[in-house]
Amino acid sequence: MEETTGNGVGRRRIVKQNHVIVFPFPRHGHISPMLQFSKRLISKGLLLTFLTTSSASQSLILNLPPSPSFHLKIISDVSESNVLASLAAYLQSFRAAVTKSLANFIDQALISSSDEEIPPTLIVYDSVMPWVQTVAAERGLDTAPFFTQSAAVNHVLLLVYGGSLSIPPPENVAVSLPAEIALQPGDLPAFPDDSEVVLKFMTSQFYNLENVKWIFINTFDRLESKVVNWMAKTLPIKTVGPTIPSAYLDGRLEDDKAYGLNVSKSNGGKSPIKWLDSKETASVVYISFGSLVILLEEQVKELTNLLRDTDFSFLWVLRESELEKLPNNFLQDTSERGLIVNWCCQPQVLSHKAVSCFVTHCGWNSTLEALSLGVPMVAIPQWVDQTTNAKFIADVWGVGIRVKKNEKGIATKEELEASIRKIVQGERANEFKQNSIKWKNLAKEAVDEGGTSDKHIEEFVQAIVASN
Ligand code: UDP
Repeated sequence: MEETTGNGVGRRRIVKQNHVIVFPFPRHGHISPMLQFSKRLISKGLLLTFLTTSSASQSLILNLPPSPSFHLKIISDVSESNVLASLAAYLQSFRAAVTKSLANFIDQALISSSDEEIPPTLIVYDSVMPWVQTVAAERGLDTAPFFTQSAAVNHVLLLVYGGSLSIPPPENVAVSLPAEIALQPGDLPAFPDDSEVVLKFMTSQFYNLENVKWIFINTFDRLESKVVNWMAKTLPIKTVGPTIPSAYLDGRLEDDKAYGLNVSKSNGGKSPIKWLDSKETASVVYISFGSLVILLEEQVKELTNLLRDTDFSFLWVLRESELEKLPNNFLQDTSERGLIVNWCCQPQVLSHKAVSCFVTHCGWNSTLEALSLGVPMVAIPQWVDQTTNAKFIADVWGVGIRVKKNEKGIATKEELEASIRKIVQGERANEFKQNSIKWKNLAKEAVDEGGTSDKHIEEFVQAIVASN
């Protein structure tokens, strides 16, 4: 049965009886790409339940227009307060709590049969929660993991999972991977000495894939063609990215200008966009280290020295908890040229003509946003997948420079300044910009009608429809 509506995320067909659940891990960088993917599924006719957990719902407010095809449901998990004390204990109790609440939720959903509550047939789950596959499959649901890292990072982690690669590699030499990628040890995903548990968490994504028919990856074919082709030989992978709001790419989803996640932060009344409006074209360095990175005090000192002693205009996103690391009078001393906020709509900032480059920690979402909006990057990766993303930014896609760090792992003022100058005014500045524009066009092409990511999403929807 089909009907049309113009409500919510755009005019679309609602194909009744085709209900899927989408369930991200409760972190910003996981919720937003899976939410964007959900919007695309809804626009192609599916009824969708977006599942989040009680801990995420406290700090993230989903800010979406009402839609008859979109239901938000919250299931219980555990408090995040002890994550820093023991990640292992947090992950264990999270899994125990969510296994139970998810099982209850699915059981309830399957017995509901009113017109409003059509039972789901499939769950798209975040690949970092591979145990969701078991819970859902035991209840007869089909399952499809969604990977929120690049295909290259997945490629590396898959080899680690399979035992053919270890991190760090035993000899300090470059590793040539099957998909023709040569990575120096410093380009591999980075797990500091005490983060064995993070490595295990990341490699566990490849567990439980035997019975899945679809594996979604937030990338696009042209961006990582060799890796995608290599992985597709053994796994049913489908690229569906970049999952950034449609207004910045193909514009096909109505009113889709932001992720729809309102992070409860105020910026003390300051508007980064109004501030950027007052600046000249390509004159502002945008700095952000994402939603999780905690900068070392020494790193903050190098950044503040750079911003105080040079003439760069800058917009810097610094979380409230990091503000105390700023030296006395820094805000007053730089107020003519700089603005510090605790949050912004990053795609909107990156698409602003005043932004010249992006000093980034190379989180995968930030990387995709900069690529999709044609902004060259100054890469200061911190850990996990960011090091590999930085390698691709600098050496594969040619859209940025990776800042050399000193022996203590700090990007010094001098290195930062030299890298920013190379990006915005050096001999290669035009090359970086042209490459960025090339990837911007290819990103749009991938999600636009008939593009590779669009086709993969369409095929998935058609398969769901055909299976009911
Ligand atoms: N982000 C944002 N405003 C900010 C800082 C970050 O909207 O002020 C968003 C950014 O657009 C991206 C996400 O937060 O979508 C960060 O994800 P990423 O994978 O880059 O890094 P993570 O936070 O997971 O380390």
